[in-house]
Amino acid sequence: MLNTLRKIVQEVNAAKDLKAALGIIVLRVQEAMGSQVCSVYLLDPQANRFVLMATEGLNKSSIGQVSMAPNEGLVGLVGTREEPLNLEDAAAHPRYRYFAETGEERFASFLGAPIIHHRRVVGVVVVQQKERRQFDEGEEAFLVTMSAQLAGVIAHAEATGSIRGLDRGGKRTQEAKFVGVPGSPGAAVGTALVVLPPADLDVVPDKPVTDIDAELALFQNALEGVRNDMRTLSAKLATQLRPEERALFDVYLMMLDDASLGSEVTEIIKTGQWAQGALRQVVTEHVNRFELMDDAYLRERASDVKDLGRRLLAYLQQAHQQALVYSDNTILVSEELTPAMLGEVPEGKLAGLVSVMGSGNSHVAILARAMGIPTVMGLVDFPYSKVDGIELIVDGYNGEVFTNPSEILTKQYATVVADERELAKGLDALRELPCVTTDGHRIPLWVNTGLLADVARAQQRGAEGVGLYRTEVPFMINQRFPSEKEQLAIYREQLQAFHPLPVTMRSLDIGGDKSLSYFPINEENPFLGWRGIRVTLDHPEIFLVQARAMLKASEGLNNLRILLPMISGTHEVEEAMHLIHRAWGEVRDEGTDVPMPPVGVMVEIPAAVYLTRELSRQVDFLSVGSNDLTQYLLAVDRNNPRVADLYDYLHPAVLQALQHVVNEAHAEGKPVSICGEMAGDPAAAVLLMAMGFDSLSMNATNLPKVKWMLRQVSYAKSRELLAQLMKIDNPQVIHSSLQLALKNQGLGRMINPQAPKTL
Ligand code: PEP
Ligand code: MG
Repeated sequence: MLNTLRKIVQEVNAAKDLKAALGIIVLRVQEAMGSQVCSVYLLDPQANRFVLMATEGLNKSSIGQVSMAPNEGLVGLVGTREEPLNLEDAAAHPRYRYFAETGEERFASFLGAPIIHHRRVVGVVVVQQKERRQFDEGEEAFLVTMSAQLAGVIAHAEATGSIRGLDRGGKRTQEAKFVGVPGSPGAAVGTALVVLPPADLDVVPDKPVTDIDAELALFQNALEGVRNDMRTLSAKLATQLRPEERALFDVYLMMLDDASLGSEVTEIIKTGQWAQGALRQVVTEHVNRFELMDDAYLRERASDVKDLGRRLLAYLQQAHQQALVYSDNTILVSEELTPAMLGEVPEGKLAGLVSVMGSGNSHVAILARAMGIPTVMGLVDFPYSKVDGIELIVDGYNGEVFTNPSEILTKQYATVVADERELAKGLDALRELPCVTTDGHRIPLWVNTGLLADVARAQQRGAEGVGLYRTEVPFMINQRFPSEKEQLAIYREQLQAFHPLPVTMRSLDIGGDKSLSYFPINEENPFLGWRGIRVTLDHPEIFLVQARAMLKASEGLNNLRILLPMISGTHEVEEAMHLIHRAWGEVRDEGTDVPMPPVGVMVEIPAAVYLTRELSRQVDFLSVGSNDLTQYLLAVDRNNPRVADLYDYLHPAVLQALQHVVNEAHAEGKPVSICGEMAGDPAAAVLLMAMGFDSLSMNATNLPKVKWMLRQVSYAKSRELLAQLMKIDNPQVIHSSLQLALKNQGLGRMINPQAPKTL
């Protein structure tokens, strides 16, 4: 049964569109279950009716004609109850409804299962049988499992149709809206540029080309490249492999032959398909054929074809990457955006970002906010590989993306973009003014940096120091570990640019969702794994080089502060302190005269919250990393779009932890800052100031908004508001009370997303 399921899902996955997918589903399920009828009804949300979309066994002419409301018929009942329905004699059921068009009277028994995607009923799959009999438990389980698997496939096929402006029936429709989570505020209208993951054939889209000869030449080059690689590899392994094992390389070479795989791809290219699409078609077809074979040896050959396909694709992608053209309003789309991808877009051309994976708390979103690029994350149902070159609207306020936008919608969003620009201009006037409340409470606003470009932005917006310099960012953009000299140059630029203002440099914080291509960390559970200080204490050579580079870079400037990430206890601080002192001794021995810089710890693990007192005694300052602290306190992966709505830094547990850290640090006379994204949320910033944080560190984009907000409120009133909110145990009530209180003070302008929700 599992094998049958797997085969059906595989076949459906390869279908070219929704109609074909549904056709395969009904045919294969009917065959597998030995029933006389299998039909799929999909819910048309506009008409709120279940429409017959495919059938084997009923009159095909009734497809698209027969439909029922959720309160009609057995199909409606399955859809509304969201449960399977198994009836021996369907006609005897009070909800039974007869449709003459379908020829249904010939069938007595009925088994229906709802098709549910992300909690939403999208349709119903039904099998029917002539003779009166109850479908057995095994059959019911089969249909339920089938429909669960198919829900995602149907949603994907539907989404693919809608990005081409087509509805289920293939008719033209208005724009399609895809909902993800906000990554970075702002709106953008532009052209999609899809960055595909390297050598993943499954996601290569079809694309028509006019210059067929050029595509053929590309493919020939790729063939030649792989042939050479194979020969080299075979020669290299000559002494290590037995002759029969080496024969595999000959098989590969044969497959690449003009008469084999190669010629099939060439034929498809000649029909006007780009080389990558033609390769995908041929490889998928062969792989499917092998995988469906019952012989285990032959099934294994599928992986050989896949491997060859990947190798050829890598060559084709390399050639494609060199020829990429970035439009003026590029919207970068990828399954999983990485900081390195952002770096590849020429300056001034990047208008928006869309990532299928990740959430608003992923590091790429943090980077996007720092750069002020509207971003939507976690767009899980977006058929991203198919959107290259089409027009998109990215609404980073509400986490929505529109394909095929109408003229009216495009105009509305263009107005939003212009309004935002005006607002930013208005805030420019605050640049030289201090961040001080109406009753005279002063709180410095610092900035988080990573890229060199952040420096200019931070200065334009009047930052009073750097509260967090994420040193891993330059590491992530590099192809190898930067040397001490290279690091020194990068750090000096930061220190010099802000001098005499303080610059807080965090030691390398890799792991979790921040990986280095040249130092891969593959773990089942990376956020609870080898991250931050754990990595660098295990690799003192990395830590020491970095500390030496920081110390040397600060020579004559003396505005360096060192910050340690992911601290869970005093022993880690002791070890890190020992290494910093060692590095300090070394650089002084080498003749660089620098004072020992202040050292601080990040409080971002619950353990550190409870040890604030002890940690405060060891260091000069503390900085709360509310991004990770929220994730670890609430046990919500900051990177997982499925639980993104549970991630909430205004959760009462988070607020209490923050207040505890401030009180404990102050009891030891140590200053405490906060550098998570929460500090850049103007409404949350009011509460943080009221808690007693000594400074707030945030992305440069939001700094003027936070300053505007804090200059409008009084410290005394903010403390009253905080006291009220700390008594509330429901996060939603905290949110609405905070919004209401600020709105009542006339400050609503800065806390609401600018784009209208109801567009
Ligand atoms: C944090 O966790 O709040 C933080 C500032 O660090 P990062 O986002 O880089 O993990
Ligand atoms: Mg962190």
